Amino acid sequence: MHAAPGEFTHRSPNRASSSALRRVPCRVTRRPIACKMEFLPFATRERCVPEPNYAVELSPPDIEPYRTGNTGIDYVTSLESGQPGPHVLVTALTHGNEICGAIALDRLFRAELQPRRGKLTLAFDNIAAYHSFDRRMPTASRFVDEDFNRLWSPTTLDGVRQSVELARARALRAIVDSANFLLDIHSMQYATAPLMLAGTLDRSLALARRVGIPELIMCDAGHAAGPRMRDYGGFGDPAATKTALLIEAGQHWERRAAEVATDVMLRFLMAVGTLSRDDAAPLGGPDFAAHPAQRVIQVTEAVTITGDTFEFVQDFRGLEVLPHKGTLIGRDNGRELRTPYDDCVLIMPSRRLVKGQTAVRLGRYAE
Ligand SMILES: [Zn+2]
Repeated sequence: MHAAPGEFTHRSPNRASSSALRRVPCRVTRRPIACKMEFLPFATRERCVPEPNYAVELSPPDIEPYRTGNTGIDYVTSLESGQPGPHVLVTALTHGNEICGAIALDRLFRAELQPRRGKLTLAFDNIAAYHSFDRRMPTASRFVDEDFNRLWSPTTLDGVRQSVELARARALRAIVDSANFLLDIHSMQYATAPLMLAGTLDRSLALARRVGIPELIMCDAGHAAGPRMRDYGGFGDPAATKTALLIEAGQHWERRAAEVATDVMLRFLMAVGTLSRDDAAPLGGPDFAAHPAQRVIQVTEAVTITGDTFEFVQDFRGLEVLPHKGTLIGRDNGRELRTPYDDCVLIMPSRRLVKGQTAVRLGRYAE
């Protein structure tokens, strides 16, 4: 049975269950009084920066009806048009707690739309993490063992290392290999404007412009911790034609993120010719017909944490523009991190301030 959208259905425990809870000292580096993450799952021992008080407005949809699919891979379904055309892949739950993408795919499934040309594949990625979602600890279900979206290099995928996420990435690899276009749907820790992540290739930026929403497009090369799915193989190869986009649809728990995710997905499927406007319009939300003047942020660096302690000097939330070169942003093991140029944009400052991970990305408006 489908649960109605917005109905809370998943309570399946996994290794983040209450029996695995233990008290972990919350090494808060700012605003210690406001820290709500006093109890963390054993597997989620991370440097804790306080949770903003976002209400969990979204509920994870029941995706059990999509488990069997038709591809031989759980939670992956391909729809064939019978007409020539590209293989288009839309993925959700690359991070298990980013439920807006699952809501968007659920809406698309329920509408029973068929591709006009080529093939459309809909995939729920990190199912194990998603099934551990608990609205009392909504951030804990990002992943089980490691970040699914830092594994996408042949070296890692072909290697001997094992994890829940590596097993899932290996299972999905053939689908990702065969896709001509990819939209990977995500959401963010802080409530800032949605961002389309177009990578570094001109053809990805051109596709982001054809999609037309959201207003902000960010061009970046990813993370030192490992390649994202959107940068994998031909998606990141200047000589190839495969094209990928990643949407950060808004804050993880806000209702608006599901609307943005749905509208971006529909506009993406129209841009690549999978759906007609008439097909997509009945599912469209507030941004479906929007045509904002899009702006591009060129990322110049992803700041990777090198020490055991990293702290921001202000409560940055993302998209702040710091007017003066040399403005202090944070300290990495005491080493000062300062803006490298005037009008520096801070992008997606992280609360997961862990050595080897990205603390924040720095960029500037290109136009
Ligand atoms: Zn994500």
